[in-house]
Amino acid sequence: MPDIRFDSKLIARYGGTGPRYTSYPTAPHFSDEFTAGEYQKHALRSNEVLNPRPLSLYVHIPFCQSLCYYCACHKIITRNTNRVNVYMDSLYEEIDMQAALFDDDRVVEQIHFGGGTPTYLSDNQLYDLLVHLRNRFNLQTGREREFAIEVDPRSVTTHSIGALAEIGFNRLSLGIQDFDPQVQQAVNRVQSAVDTIALVEHARDVKFNSISFDLIYGLPHQTVESFSRTLDTVIAIQPDRLAVYNYAHLPNRFKGQRMIKERDLPSPDVKLKILNRTIEKLLKASYIYIGMDHFALANDELVKAQQNGTLQRNFQGYSTHRDCDLIGLGVSAIGNIDNTYSQNASTTTEYQMALEAGKLPIRRGIEVDSDDRIRAEVIQQLMCYGQVDYSYFQQHLDTDFPSYFNSELTRLAPLQRDGLVELYPNRIQITATGRMLLRTVAMVFDRHLASESSDQRYSQTI
Ligand code: SF4
Repeated sequence: MPDIRFDSKLIARYGGTGPRYTSYPTAPHFSDEFTAGEYQKHALRSNEVLNPRPLSLYVHIPFCQSLCYYCACHKIITRNTNRVNVYMDSLYEEIDMQAALFDDDRVVEQIHFGGGTPTYLSDNQLYDLLVHLRNRFNLQTGREREFAIEVDPRSVTTHSIGALAEIGFNRLSLGIQDFDPQVQQAVNRVQSAVDTIALVEHARDVKFNSISFDLIYGLPHQTVESFSRTLDTVIAIQPDRLAVYNYAHLPNRFKGQRMIKERDLPSPDVKLKILNRTIEKLLKASYIYIGMDHFALANDELVKAQQNGTLQRNFQGYSTHRDCDLIGLGVSAIGNIDNTYSQNASTTTEYQMALEAGKLPIRRGIEVDSDDRIRAEVIQQLMCYGQVDYSYFQQHLDTDFPSYFNSELTRLAPLQRDGLVELYPNRIQITATGRMLLRTVAMVFDRHLASESSDQRYSQTI
């Protein structure tokens, strides 16, 4: 992979709105006509191929104790335990129905508990949930399993971290966002660095393999210096992985963001400077830029996967496991089975009603066609490896890349002139500057984008 180079003029010119390409086609193109019946047909078909793929489970726990004002996730702020219990009953129903569709010998290599706040659940509730999954699916038990959980440092104790390790989780993802007290106050998410450090130390003691932090730049009151101090604290803790996201202020879409005063937000120019300083500091601290907001230490599995060609872009960002069938469990969860994507109902009422009626709560989805498959592979290669090798398409997809993508290659010419890509007879190479604008390049290959107003749906590319 080439290095990464920050060019603020090009970023300002090309950094409009765009999809994050955690799937292709992206979720706005899922159709209401895709039904639970279609899903079941494809799930059963996925057992019948010559070498059925291993399984990956995503479990969505939508509840949170309080609202972080910047949040754009699918979450429910509640302290009503009865509401949570009703949801858990439905989730167990769904797990049983989904498990019945897949052959028992298909191993679950990956689990990801996301939210909301999975650690909103008590240690006992999480234990029962994992036992239930173990009873219904063939969960991998070795060290190579990747069982991850998103943790809110404000809602877990060191005791809970030990309990999570005991029940089988080996990866932690911690929401940090910023350690600066003024920023934390302004977004209603106050958490101390001292408590976070204690949690991480304990997680290492109980042998979590990988610890990942999420940070956000562009939050109210952030300055280059203040975020730099947060980065110093983060670098001293040395998480294995880091995701540094751009805050997209869309108060018309996300009501909670109206609590953030626009005058407190850093200007676009300051945001770019914060991003520039972030990249400089992380590279200097020996983090490797994986792509699309993600960094990892050199000995992390993500870096090895990028080197040996097994890196994958998926709904959790980047992953080391290629070729799993992904089962989405819980409200709004997205699955990727056989040649389909599907998404569950987005409200708990609709989700629970479907399950009470004995139906899977699939709300929408898409069956990808052969053109989607080819384009998905192009986007995957750009996002994961920063290049596209034409011979791969001939060998694996029976596609002559230069003639199939004749018009896209023409549309890449201005990006080549501006130094984002280099076009060779046998490959497209993203340059060090272009690595900051991966999705700008990927968007050239997205045939669905033409049919929509992307400004309405997507965040800024930077
Ligand atoms: S950022 Fe996380 S904890 Fe905060 S409201 Fe959103 S989902 Fe809940």
